[in-house]
Amino acid sequence: VNRGLCELLIAGLLLAVPWMPVTAAEPADSVLQRLLREGLSSTYAHTLLTRLTAEAGLRLSGSPGSQKAITLTQHMMRECGLTSVRVESLMVPCWVRGPVEDAVLVDARGRRGDRLNVCALGGSIATPKEGITGEIVEVRSFEELRALGGEPRGKIVLFNRPMDPSWLNTGTAYGGAVDQRSTGAVEAARAGAVAALVRSVTLALDDVPHTGATHYADSIPPIPIAAVSTRGAEALHAMILQGKKPRLRLRLSCQTLPDVPGANVLGELCGTEKPDEVIVVGGHLDSWDKGKGAHDDGAGCMQAIEALRLLKEIGVKPKRTIRAVMFMNEENGSRGGRAYAEAPGRRTERHIAAIESDGGGFTPRGLGVQGDSTLLRRVLRWQPLFDALGAGTIRSGHGGVDISPIIEHGAAGFGLVVDQHRYFDYHHSANDTIDKVHPRELEMGAVVEALLCYLLANEGI
Ligand SMILES: [Zn+2]
Repeated sequence: VNRGLCELLIAGLLLAVPWMPVTAAEPADSVLQRLLREGLSSTYAHTLLTRLTAEAGLRLSGSPGSQKAITLTQHMMRECGLTSVRVESLMVPCWVRGPVEDAVLVDARGRRGDRLNVCALGGSIATPKEGITGEIVEVRSFEELRALGGEPRGKIVLFNRPMDPSWLNTGTAYGGAVDQRSTGAVEAARAGAVAALVRSVTLALDDVPHTGATHYADSIPPIPIAAVSTRGAEALHAMILQGKKPRLRLRLSCQTLPDVPGANVLGELCGTEKPDEVIVVGGHLDSWDKGKGAHDDGAGCMQAIEALRLLKEIGVKPKRTIRAVMFMNEENGSRGGRAYAEAPGRRTERHIAAIESDGGGFTPRGLGVQGDSTLLRRVLRWQPLFDALGAGTIRSGHGGVDISPIIEHGAAGFGLVVDQHRYFDYHHSANDTIDKVHPRELEMGAVVEALLCYLLANEGI
């Protein structure tokens, strides 16, 4: 019998018996094919994400939505047949937006003109009730702001440097603009400004403001800071170019409340041979309080649960424990990732690897490997398998914010690399909703993660 015919017969047998349990002898390629068929036939990750976004909704740390998500994801894990489903509690910050946030142009006599679409940045202090009114001073960088000397005193600084669209990697473009959002309030206050506005960190030109974390420095008194939509930022820029001196009244009612209890959620497929050796796969359960956190990062959380469900569904009994973790508080504190790494339960475990999906539920392209060159070389032996899933771009890269502490403790780090062109259109905004997530694209991320978990659990690294 020729070899080709033999392979054809085996393939036929595998097709006919999709529930066949994985034995030690089954080649990884065959596991891959069964994961792929199971995933694409059910697209269950999308079903889970629909539930998360509908039933829990907004999930900013400490919010009622985040509490619902902690309960709901435990239900989901149990329904999917995961074991040792549990929470690990931690204290999380509690920032609330409040009912008032608006920005209105006012003339010298105080008459109101056009409104701009703004939203408070996460962590911002409020304005006084009557708002803060000031002339807009536009800058594109902190250097430009410093060069103005005392000019911004008593005014509102607008940071208006766009994301650079010429980068292929939109994450790089984001990294090149996000300093305005994260530390703009400190820089503006240092220059004497009374408030700050930041052009939304997105490539989209639209009317939707994008929030995100902002920070203050102990040595500089805090000032309120908000994001303005990219069209709003362009409109202010055009007015300034025409020699007008736009004045704005900004009102924000946000505040930081005392810390409240939160939790990470864990569920597993227990290892048959080395149960104390763990592969973690996860995302962050908290989201910003705009949109529904569908891509950021409901997608990553649901993919982790789905990856374990897929493995269980096709009968995989992993040699090492595979654990799905929903990390709390990535967006405004990263406390969940640290709490996980430091939890008492970790002392008796050895973490082989940690995998995170936090780039949105888009088509997976490959893996970012966080570790030394030896690790990368070892992972590259699996490249043909990931290539068969369209995710063969394996390179050195960042694992993820939540898994960073466990990587520091010695785990090999993996970040799911996805098609990124649309991510920042939705990121941290009211546009981040379930209708922007494609079931097959989302599911493929779960299939890639399931395959990686399988390989790490059974072959080690
Ligand atoms: Zn995220």
